[in-house]
Amino acid sequence: MQTPFYYYDKKLLQETLDVINREASRYAGFHVHYAVKANVDSTVLGMINAAGLGCDCVSGWEVDVCLKAGFPASRVVFAGVGKSDWEINRSLDADIACFNVESAPELDVINELAKAKGKVARVALRVNPDVDAHTHRYITTGLSENKFGIAMNMLDMIVQHAHTLPNIQFEGLHFHIGSQLLDLEPYKRLCERINYLQEELEGKGVRMKSINVGGGLGCDYVSPDENPIPDFASYFRIFADHLALRNGQELHFELGRSVVCQCGSLISRVLYVKEGNNKKFVILDAGMSDLIRPALYQAHHKIENLTAAPGSLKEKYDVVGPICESSDTFGEDELLPTTRRGDLVALRSAGAYGQIMSSNYNCRPTPPSVVL
Ligand SMILES: *Cc1c(COP(=O)(O)O)cnc(C)c1O
Repeated sequence: MQTPFYYYDKKLLQETLDVINREASRYAGFHVHYAVKANVDSTVLGMINAAGLGCDCVSGWEVDVCLKAGFPASRVVFAGVGKSDWEINRSLDADIACFNVESAPELDVINELAKAKGKVARVALRVNPDVDAHTHRYITTGLSENKFGIAMNMLDMIVQHAHTLPNIQFEGLHFHIGSQLLDLEPYKRLCERINYLQEELEGKGVRMKSINVGGGLGCDYVSPDENPIPDFASYFRIFADHLALRNGQELHFELGRSVVCQCGSLISRVLYVKEGNNKKFVILDAGMSDLIRPALYQAHHKIENLTAAPGSLKEKYDVVGPICESSDTFGEDELLPTTRRGDLVALRSAGAYGQIMSSNYNCRPTPPSVVL
């Protein structure tokens, strides 16, 4: 088989979806959407749709992909700081469940475009709750001067404004504080923030049908075999314990990484083992064009030699890709069994933000998927 390719484990994905459904269904009004940007492999999307999750899109193309994959429009929501007119129009035509609106000018544009179609757009306002997710700065999205969301001190004004727009139906508030959270404390602070905002708005006569707390639950990149399924029980319980939902109010989640991360691996072949003065380099046929997370976020994926002779001695290697960038490195001083040209190597926990972020850099083709 031609390498590199992404391998997806259907059994693990199904188990993960089953746990999500089991844990979320303990609480009335909890709805889970899948953040489509993490992975759009057609088999993966099909399984997530079959499990009954909705989807959270961040582009009009993603809205199209979800509708084509068979998700009902009533389970599609659309977020993003820069929605262009065609993306809004397409979503209005499809009657998606909700636009997660990130600014006052966007609200006015959606109102106008909806008016032109004689429709009413359901919207939630994305609020920047100024909660530090304590994760990598490129994946922290909830601090006060982030490009995402509406600042809390402007919220009241924009909510009032939304109520004056005839083609806008205000549904509630939306939040998303960041990604790869393993410490759940920031979610507690998010709940407290939401409780406060909800009371403030209610004081002014504003009721909300739903609250959307985004996604961000992390997965264990260090020990994928010990922790193949993220701790969804604790995650949902945090919100059940700390968020004061009103009677009949819906709570929406938008999980991406935690749904698909562990079911995927990037499989690559060793091209060369090169001896430096003090180091040995394992040079793979997969590079940052196939999996950019290490280069982009200093992320580390567990590296496994799948074909090394059993019981062989462990040695230290730098594991690198073939691309002309020094950041095209998957690991330094990795302890691996003696590795040779032709060995197959797995970069684990690559199901989220892996294949979907691949590019044609160096005119390389993007890697295909194999689902078993
Ligand atoms: C990316 C994103 C998510 C999903 O984040 P994960 O960390 O993958 O769970 C949810 N909501 C919004 C608005 C996003 O942009």
